Amino acid sequence: MHHPKSLQEIVENGLCLGCGLCESLSGRERITMEWVDPPGRLRPRVHAELDEEAEQAILQGCPGVHLDEPLDPARHGPNAREDPSFGPWIRVWKGHASEPKIHHLGSSGGALTALSLYLLETGKVDFICHVKADDVRPMRTRSHVSTNRDEVLEGAGSRYGPASPLDRFMEQLDKGRPFAVVGKPCDISGVHNMRKLDPRVDELVKYTMAFSCGTFADLQCSRWMLERVGFPGGQDGEENLSLFRYRGYGCPGPTRAVDQNGKVYDEPYLDFWYGEHGWTHQFRCKICADPTGEATDISVADAWQGGGPTEEEWGGYSTFISRTPRGDALMQEAIEAGALTVEEHDIALMYDVQPHQAVKKQGLNARLKAIEDSGSLGPVFHKLRLDEAQAQQDQTFFETNYDGTKTRIEKGVNRERLA
Ligand SMILES: Cc1cc2nc3c(=O)[nH]c(=O)nc-3n(C[C@H](O)[C@H](O)[C@H](O)COP(=O)(O)OP(=O)(O)OC[C@H]3O[C@@H](n4cnc5c(N)ncnc54)[C@H](O)[C@@H]3O)c2cc1C
Ligand code: SF4
Ligand code: SF4
Repeated sequence: MHHPKSLQEIVENGLCLGCGLCESLSGRERITMEWVDPPGRLRPRVHAELDEEAEQAILQGCPGVHLDEPLDPARHGPNAREDPSFGPWIRVWKGHASEPKIHHLGSSGGALTALSLYLLETGKVDFICHVKADDVRPMRTRSHVSTNRDEVLEGAGSRYGPASPLDRFMEQLDKGRPFAVVGKPCDISGVHNMRKLDPRVDELVKYTMAFSCGTFADLQCSRWMLERVGFPGGQDGEENLSLFRYRGYGCPGPTRAVDQNGKVYDEPYLDFWYGEHGWTHQFRCKICADPTGEATDISVADAWQGGGPTEEEWGGYSTFISRTPRGDALMQEAIEAGALTVEEHDIALMYDVQPHQAVKKQGLNARLKAIEDSGSLGPVFHKLRLDEAQAQQDQTFFETNYDGTKTRIEKGVNRERLA
């Protein structure tokens, strides 16, 4: 397989996932994240030519093109085991935030919000890097730095549209203060890649946490929701929004649009994904080698049996995986302090509640082979146990995955452009 040698090649081969790290690495005078709309994706726009040094830094840091060795013996210590599909793990739990308010408003069990608050309130970090709805255009999502409880709560909840959580990552390092990063697995892969480029990452990024991620929807899918629920202005009604959220306040909770007069337009969670319009998303998620956050200290996921909701609950459950000794110690402390209410399981729980992620990992070798055979450029995935995951399935499974990816590439879904 051949790999991209420039930012342009990353994007043109459908490998960009919109994290924003290249903007932060290069500076806004050279790169900004902009909308390619339709379909509504955040992609880099290059304003000034990148020199060799800048291009190399992007190629090393970009999680779209590069992911290397989530299990690092120095970081994981002797007690971490490795599961073929779900990666490094020390302990696994199922549970939720103990505080009812957080349990109710969080997307699953409020796990990430409770852990973020615990980190801030115990002084283990000075701030949390995550995301929240844009104040002016609440259908859009922007990177967000929280230093107190109210700010953390503002960022709670899954944002199923595009976001660039790393677009200010270097600014956070420049503060020289300890912090935590919460994001999608690929956002944390970007942080993990940066460990090799900037020694401040090991020094200052005290904790990384991610949620299991299937993909996110292009912005046009949120516009389609407005039309389906009869929102004022329909698909073009974004300017009339005062709030837009995807789930939470119950589990899964509705997708909710609120107009400027406070009128609420709700749609059931499953209708957002499987309703009249379906959803569209970037090709890169189809070849995601780490959908469950293997490079984190702690990763979480929904805890629905079979991978999807069957009923609406007042508050949901999260699964938690501690992956590093640091993450494990944080979990133990947060449980003992009463911030989390959990019962212990083992990694088998993940096969029950995240079957779609196991299947994605198991099919990845086939999908990468289809990219290689098509002559497209592909990502560098190193030490991600793709052979072991493939061995959990048979040859028919391999061929189905190969054929599906080949068809997608023939349709051109991996061809994109810079913004
Ligand atoms: C795009 C996307 C895809 C997902 N796919 C799956 C899946 O396949 N399987 C599964 O089990 N769960 C999936 N989830 C996760 C699930 O919806 C819950 O968010 C997760 O279990 C965490 O729940 P919580 O209650 O602990 O989070 P909360 O306490 O509600 O906190 C969520 C945290 O995540 C941050 N965040 C939210 N959206 C984003 C985003 N787009 N990018 C970066 N950071 C973000 C928030 O700022 C907040 O800090 C997905 C979530 C998203 C946003
Ligand atoms: S994945 Fe992130 S770093 Fe890579 S090109 Fe896209 S926005 Fe830039
Ligand atoms: S599926 Fe993988 S690549 Fe896509 S957004 Fe989620 S973590 Fe990132």
